[in-house]
Amino acid sequence: MKVRAVSVSVFFAVILPVMTRCGRIEAQSPAPQSTLGYTDFSAEAKVEQKFLAVPSAELAGEELKTLTEEPHLAATPEDHKTAEYVAEKFRAAGLETQIVEYRVLMNQPKVVRVEAYDPAGRLLISGPTREHVTNDPGQDNPLVVMPFNGSSGSGDVTGEVVYANYGRIEDFNELAARHIDLRGKIVICRYGSNFRGVKVYLAEQRGAIGVLIYSDPQDDGYYKGDPYPEGPWRPATGVQRGSVQYLFHYPGDPETPGVASTMDLPDSARVKNFTGPEGDQPKIISIPLSYHDAEPILQALDGPSVPQDWQGALPFRYHMGPGGVKVHLVSDQDYERRVIWDVIGKVEGAQDPDESVIVGNHRDAWVYGTVDPSSGTAAMLEAVHGMGALLREGWKPKRTIEFCSWDAEEEGLIGSTEWVEQQAQALNHAVAYFNVDVAVSGPNFGAAAVPSLKNFIRDVTRKVPSPVAGTVYQQWRQSREAGNEHRASNAPPAEGEEVPVGDLGSGSDFTPFLQHAGVPSVDIGSNGPYGVYHSTFDDFAWYTENADPHFYYLQEMARILGLEAVRMADADVLPYDYVAYAHAISAYIDAAKRKAANANLGGLDFGPAEAAATRMATAAQQVYVLQSAATGNLAKLNAALRETETALLTQAGLPNRPWYRHTIYAPGEYTGYAAVVIPGVNEAIDARNATVAAEQLQVLTEALNRAAGVLESVR
Ligand SMILES: [Zn+2]
Repeated sequence: MKVRAVSVSVFFAVILPVMTRCGRIEAQSPAPQSTLGYTDFSAEAKVEQKFLAVPSAELAGEELKTLTEEPHLAATPEDHKTAEYVAEKFRAAGLETQIVEYRVLMNQPKVVRVEAYDPAGRLLISGPTREHVTNDPGQDNPLVVMPFNGSSGSGDVTGEVVYANYGRIEDFNELAARHIDLRGKIVICRYGSNFRGVKVYLAEQRGAIGVLIYSDPQDDGYYKGDPYPEGPWRPATGVQRGSVQYLFHYPGDPETPGVASTMDLPDSARVKNFTGPEGDQPKIISIPLSYHDAEPILQALDGPSVPQDWQGALPFRYHMGPGGVKVHLVSDQDYERRVIWDVIGKVEGAQDPDESVIVGNHRDAWVYGTVDPSSGTAAMLEAVHGMGALLREGWKPKRTIEFCSWDAEEEGLIGSTEWVEQQAQALNHAVAYFNVDVAVSGPNFGAAAVPSLKNFIRDVTRKVPSPVAGTVYQQWRQSREAGNEHRASNAPPAEGEEVPVGDLGSGSDFTPFLQHAGVPSVDIGSNGPYGVYHSTFDDFAWYTENADPHFYYLQEMARILGLEAVRMADADVLPYDYVAYAHAISAYIDAAKRKAANANLGGLDFGPAEAAATRMATAAQQVYVLQSAATGNLAKLNAALRETETALLTQAGLPNRPWYRHTIYAPGEYTGYAAVVIPGVNEAIDARNATVAAEQLQVLTEALNRAAGVLESVR
C-alpha cells in the first residue's frame, strides 16, 4: 500500500522522557451513558479497560522482529512460515483458526534488465543496481527479490525515452499538447501523486512499449532529509517495488473477477481476457528504478526543457525527450498459478453469531516489510493477545469477531479479494471491516472511513492513551501532520471543527469489503518520514532507528484496532452515523453539480438526486433518535442499519468496471489510491459524457432512495 511520509519536527527530542511511562493505563471513570450504541456503557467500559491493559509494546517488538527475520514475498516458503506463526498466535489466544488457501495467478521475476546507451552507442547504465548502503544488516540476504513490478508484462524492447513527470493524466496531456508522440517509446516517470498502475495504464493507452518508474530524491530522498542509514529517507540505490495491476478495474486474481480462486476451481472457470480493455493486467513491460539508475538516463535526455513543476531534485535540468538516449529493457516474468495463505481466526458471538466484525491486515511483503505490513501484523497480534485475555476471563462478544491475516496484498489485494468473493453471502451480515496496513511509520495518527464510522473512530481514539501525553485523539487534533496522502487532509482542524477523517479510495484490503461487498469500513495508520517504502531497507534496523524504537506506537495501534472490534461487537445498537453520511453525500452532489456547470453540462438534472439525499438525511435523523435511545426492537433496528450501506451498492456495477459496486466510493480510474466520490457521476462529468452522467445520476438517485427506504422502514 502507498503511504506518503510526512515531515516531522523535533518531536522525539521533546517527548522521549514522557514516553518511558506510557505503557500504563490509568484507571478512568466510566464513559458517559450517552456512548452511541449502548443503553448502558458502564459494563462495556470495564471490558474496554481490561482490554487496553493487555497489548504490550515489548511483545509487539518481539513479534515484529520474528515476522521480519526474512524476506516473505507472497507464495514463498518464508511467507508460509509467517502464516504458521500468525496461526499459532491466534490459537494461543483461543481463536478458532484456519489457514485458507487460494490458487492465484502471479508473477515472480526471472530476468529484469535496463540498459541505456547514448547516440554513439556508449553504455550509460546497466541495471538494476543491487540495493546497498553502508551497514544495513538485511541487504545481502539472497532471498531479497530483485526490483520488479507485480503484473508487469514480459518482453525485450528498445526505444527512445520520454519523461512524463508523475505520469498523471495532466502530464500525458501536456506531452500531447507539445506533440510528443509516445508510440513506440519508453516512458520514464517518477513515483508519487497517483498509483503506479495508473502511470502504466496511461502510457499503454498512448502507445508506449515500456515504462520505467523511478523514485526522485525530491519526493522521498535527500531533498526531504538525510537518506538511510543516516536518516529515514530513500538512499540512492533504494527501489520502490510494487504492483502495476489495473486495480481500478478490479483487484484480486486476474483470472477470477467476482469469483473466488479456491483450490478446486477448474481452469475453465478462469477468464483469459485480463489484458483487455476492462482487464486488470498491462501488456507492456514496467520496471521500477532507483535514482542511482535513473540519473544517467534523465541526464542524457534531450528535447524541450521541462515545465518547472516537472523538475525533480537531481542536479541538472530535466528534459522531456525524446532523443539523447536509447533504452533497452528485458523483462522475463514467471507467471504461475501460485498458492497463497490467508489466516482466519474467529471468536464466535454469544448473541448474534451471524453478525461479524472483521479485522484485517496483510502479511506478505515485497522484502522484509517491517513497516509495510508487519507493523500492522504485530499490532493485530497484540490486539488478539488482548482479546485472548478477555476470553480467558469468560467474556464473550455479542457478535462474532474474525481476525484476518491476508496474503498477496502487494500483488493486488489478492488474499482479501478472493476471501470476500468466497464469503459474499455471509458478508451481508458483516457489520464492519477494520483495516490496518502500514500501522506505524511514525507518530502521526490518521484514519479514513465511511462517513457513518468517522465519529466512531474518533470516539475510539478518545479512549486510547498516546505515547506522548493525553489521548490519541488529543494528539491527532494537535498534530499538524495528521493524516496522509489517501486519508485525512493535512490541514489541522479549525477551532470547533472535528479532526478530519479521510475517504476510502484504494491501496489496501478495505477495497473488496467496502466497494464490492458494501461492508462499512475503517482504515488506520500512524505515519512519519518514510523513504524506504517497498525497498530492502524497510527492515527491522530502519524501524528501530527511525520509526518507533520502543514499539510504543505498535502498542497504541494494537489498542485502537482491538477497541474498534470490541466496541463494535458488543454494541446494543450499531453505532453508525447516517446523518453524517447523508450530509457527506449532499456535499458530494453539490460539488458534482458545480463541476458539471463548469464543464458546460448544465443540462443535467441533479434535482432527483438532491431530493433523495435530503430524504435519506431526514430518515437518518429519525433513526438517530432511536439509536441514541437504544430501546425498542433492536434486532429490527440493527438489521436496517446494516442494510443501509448495502442499499448503496448498484448490482450492475460502475460503468466499464462492474466489479466496483459502491455508488458513493471507488478508487479513481486516474488516481488509483485516492477516492472518487459518487464515482459514476463524477467520472462521466470528467469525461464530458452527458448521457452516462444522466444515467449515473439516476443510478445514484435510486441507491439513495433505497437507503432512505431502509431507514424509513424502522419507524
Ligand atoms: Zn501494505
